[in-house]
Amino acid sequence: MIALRKTRAAFGIEVIDIPDHDAPVGDADVLVDVAAAGICGSDLHAYAWTPSYAFMGDLLPVTLGHEFAGTIRAVGPEARGLAVGDRVVCMPTVTCGACAGCQAGRRQDCESRHIVGLHRDGAFTRRVSLPAANCLALPDGLPLETAALAEPLAVAVNAVDLAEVRAGDAVVVMGPGPIGMAAAWVAQSRGASVLLVGLDDAFRLARAKNVGLAQVADLVSDETLEAATLRVFGRRPDRMIEASGARASLEDGVPLLRPGGIFVVSGIHAEPCTLDATRFVREKKQLRAAHDSTPESFATAIRLLHAHTGSLSRLITHRMPLARGADALALASGRQAVKVMVLPQAGAGAAERTPS
Ligand SMILES: [Zn+2]
Ligand SMILES: [Zn+2]
Repeated sequence: MIALRKTRAAFGIEVIDIPDHDAPVGDADVLVDVAAAGICGSDLHAYAWTPSYAFMGDLLPVTLGHEFAGTIRAVGPEARGLAVGDRVVCMPTVTCGACAGCQAGRRQDCESRHIVGLHRDGAFTRRVSLPAANCLALPDGLPLETAALAEPLAVAVNAVDLAEVRAGDAVVVMGPGPIGMAAAWVAQSRGASVLLVGLDDAFRLARAKNVGLAQVADLVSDETLEAATLRVFGRRPDRMIEASGARASLEDGVPLLRPGGIFVVSGIHAEPCTLDATRFVREKKQLRAAHDSTPESFATAIRLLHAHTGSLSRLITHRMPLARGADALALASGRQAVKVMVLPQAGAGAAERTPS
């Protein structure tokens, strides 16, 4: 079977042949036929080989892909709670079970966690073996392709939870990629007034409107983040969620937040940033980091996808067969796509599909 693999510690990706699995690798694993796997910002970092992903250097080759849904094809002798034919999504964080965080039930804080599709082989291929404990069964009626949005939506739910967004809050979300768009959607669904901000991002902000986000601003004009925020809310925001990885979103955003407000960082930043700590302290702001997801946020994401399949599935802007995986990564790297789905079961000749 072919796989979309990171093989070298340098820019790029390869579509190569790897041995087919016919059984789960570990006794507590299941083997999943991958129906759809989304391209994540982390895949793009690995593809572009940015410094924040240098940790993968010793692990290569690795098949990328951690946002996926599929059907269980085989079950290991010690895999519990799942059966052949079950439709599942995967929580990509594999925890060690032994560190202080794991022992205390804080799996998100595991100090030797491994991510499927970054530390170990992932889902940009036809079949993937992973621990049964990382799989969550899906409700009937939720299409697998939509279910493959569960991981980024769970990341967004976690970020919104951490921001303690409440009804009536004025919330600015920076970065109209899949995580920012999903976080804006979740915050809006909780009754907040949300402004999604991009920078020269006309395509993705138009898409955000399609997904149901009421207020967007493209800072390509002369308007600053502060001016756009005051224009929309008439006051400084209560909550800000950064999902752009751009240094300016922190350096311009934190001073703009209202006193006592909460600023959540969820982007991966390629460079350090500067913060006026004195003003930050005097205004008693909270700066928090959101990364990854929790089993609770995953369960919420699945529920939301089931209840709002129509609007949330519009986060998917492109679908590509696995054989065109390199093109899919290049496409997802630009600003003319939101979520690009790789379809591993589609034949090499399958056409790219772009919904209206
Ligand atoms: Zn992801
Ligand atoms: Zn651990």
